[in-house]
Amino acid sequence: MHKVLILGSGAAGLTAAIYAARANLKPALINGTQRGGQLTITTDVENYPGFRHGIMGPALMEEMEAQAKRFGTEFIEGTVTKVDLSKSPFKVWIEDERIEETESLIIATGASAKLLGIPSEGAFMGFGVSACATCDGFFFKEQEILVIGGGDTAMEEATYLTKFASKVTIVHRRGEFRASKIMFERAQRNPKIAWITNAELLEVLGEGDGLGKKVVGALLRDTVTGETRKVHATGVFLAIGHQPNSKPFAGLLDMDETGYIKTHDGTKTSVEGVFAAGDVQDKIYRQAITAAGSGCMAAIDAERWLEAKHHAEAVHGGA
Ligand code: NDP
Repeated sequence: MHKVLILGSGAAGLTAAIYAARANLKPALINGTQRGGQLTITTDVENYPGFRHGIMGPALMEEMEAQAKRFGTEFIEGTVTKVDLSKSPFKVWIEDERIEETESLIIATGASAKLLGIPSEGAFMGFGVSACATCDGFFFKEQEILVIGGGDTAMEEATYLTKFASKVTIVHRRGEFRASKIMFERAQRNPKIAWITNAELLEVLGEGDGLGKKVVGALLRDTVTGETRKVHATGVFLAIGHQPNSKPFAGLLDMDETGYIKTHDGTKTSVEGVFAAGDVQDKIYRQAITAAGSGCMAAIDAERWLEAKHHAEAVHGGA
């Protein structure tokens, strides 16, 4: 049985591992589907303190993983599909098969890119539709691409895609952008980036079937006039935000209406001994540094909780 089991290998999970390992708690960490988390599918990280010239996302995560390993974190491959949080020791199922038992649990499962949910988006996913510019941008050399969204992700993805594409059009449903000024202005200065505002994506237009499927354009609706129009594009990148990866804990932990795990007094969840850190519990900041910070907090919270539990067991002789 583990003293501390950490779910997730992003900035929150790895920082929790570094702190728990250095507190001699011999943590184990289950990697999850995307080892290294969202930072592994980003490019330059310019705002993580300590790197004045910036650092590439994957390189930052490699460093964090190596640091967690250096202090003895045990890494377990796989994705958690089910948990039993009725009492400590908690049970965690990996791929519905293997079971790990742990006295305390740190949930740092992060968030994933949101999709629009329209049928044509699903039909052409991987055939011209993508939610990850750094993963798929390479396939769109000298092509025309649409990026849907008006936040920092949309600005970052659009800017990155101009390395490959001949033209990138940012399609945003409003006239104002929620992106930070610096990233918005950088995109504005890029001659390959065009803008369509007050427009929503109704359908991805494509042709062919099977492995020959491809995107040929998009049907947009003007959110002010209601008019629809077709635009040419061979790629559609979705950059409309993220949703928390909290499904295995639904009904077991208090969450808000969009699935973010509720925390109180630091990283405590509604179940004693279960802590949550990073994007799975944070819909406000969602930065690498805040995720790392909350991972540190979760490890300290778990350590203190274990200490109190062991003390009570020693005094009362409880199991
Ligand atoms: P945001 O929630 O900030 O932005 C999502 C964008 O998508 C908004 O413009 C929103 O429109 C639009 N959108 C949402 N749902 C739909 C929909 N159904 N149809 C059409 N458009 C939709 O998410 P981001 O992923 O951009 O950013 C998340 C966080 O990560 C932010 O805190 C951001 O600062 C941070 N980040 C930082 C980066 C960096 O510093 N390098 C890089 C990337 C992200 P509307 O505005 O109308 O709501």
